[in-house]
Amino acid sequence: MTPPSAIAIRRGDRGSAVAAVRERLVIVGELDADGSDDVSEDAVLEFDDRVERAVKSFQQRRGLLVDGVVGTATYAALDGARYALGDRVLRHQPGHFLEGDDVATLQGRLVELGFRPGKVDGIHGPLTDEAVRAFQADVGLVGDGTVGPETMRAFQALRRSVRGGSANALREREHIRRSGHSLSGRTIVIDPGHGGDDRGAEGLKGLVEADLSLELARRIEGRLSAHGVNVVFTRTNATTAGTDDDRADFANGVEADLVLSLHSDHSPSGSAHGVATYFYGHDARGATGANGSGGSGAHGARSLIGERFADVLLREVVARTGLTDCRTHARTWTLLRRTRMPAVQLDVGYLDHEGDAGLLSRPETLDRVAEATVVALQRLYLGENDTAQTGVLHLGDLRRHLEALRSGSTGAEVGATG
Ligand SMILES: [Zn+2]
Repeated sequence: MTPPSAIAIRRGDRGSAVAAVRERLVIVGELDADGSDDVSEDAVLEFDDRVERAVKSFQQRRGLLVDGVVGTATYAALDGARYALGDRVLRHQPGHFLEGDDVATLQGRLVELGFRPGKVDGIHGPLTDEAVRAFQADVGLVGDGTVGPETMRAFQALRRSVRGGSANALREREHIRRSGHSLSGRTIVIDPGHGGDDRGAEGLKGLVEADLSLELARRIEGRLSAHGVNVVFTRTNATTAGTDDDRADFANGVEADLVLSLHSDHSPSGSAHGVATYFYGHDARGATGANGSGGSGAHGARSLIGERFADVLLREVVARTGLTDCRTHARTWTLLRRTRMPAVQLDVGYLDHEGDAGLLSRPETLDRVAEATVVALQRLYLGENDTAQTGVLHLGDLRRHLEALRSGSTGAEVGATG
């Protein structure tokens, strides 16, 4: 209901406008709905002492001028107060801003998550609109500025854990949660390191990093495609991927769910060996702002999903290949930093190490790394339901487990096949 432009409903008035005011006072808890005999058909049209007291109490609570008269401001506040966030679809309407408690709640929540809707004033203006669109883009929704059921679900899922960590981490987690347990339908960008004139590290047994990373990428692609994953390469044999900035832009452009960059290492001494993974973050835990609401933009100090995937991937690769565990590390490298989705770099083996080169020149090893990657991805999306031991899972087990989860038997265990 839109109030007339100048409005003043006061004690002594009667009619349908009074009935509308009473109705709202009941909704906001200032007036009893019943329990009094005078709430007859006729009485609801009366602006009596009781209504005046209720209006004053409401004005007091809202910091409005306490005069007991329902003027334009009081009317707008009363009208808006009946909405809790989610009761109606909110969007920015140029020329006629929506107002209400739901808008204020929305603004408060945006602030909590590190966005900037401007003043928390319950008025859905352009800044609030901008913040809503930024939120939608961050959790992977269409950034249309409309706060409807889908955006509400994203908010609700985040609210439960908003005290628990950085806004950025929560957004990532929400992204994973919302996309469900299945790999199917996801877009994974695989970035085979180097390429073109840049051959990367060169080592024993004719191993060249640029070729090895592409070879591994193809094996991962084959397995992921079989699971309905949309795999996109940053480069092929014939094309180059450009700089790390270009690679990040590419991944952002295809709106990937995750980026995996494939590399190998070399060390002049020839003694270093093993496998390591890297995710976005600073190694000194908690050294940078952890709540994402500061001036550092949308990104918090570390990617928790990236860290989890880096950790699971490393353990699966080590368990399957016998390569030495060189651990998971937080880095602020361009590709990890500039991608808007979780990104992980896998450095598999030192090409100038006798043992590593021996392993990596065998196709079975690459198959195992590829299998480890797919299992790690699947485990990432299993989330907290993932209780299986590292290195013992095979894709068939995971599929059965996921089917059990989907069919509702929540007690399903992932069987470790020997
Ligand atoms: Zn490299």
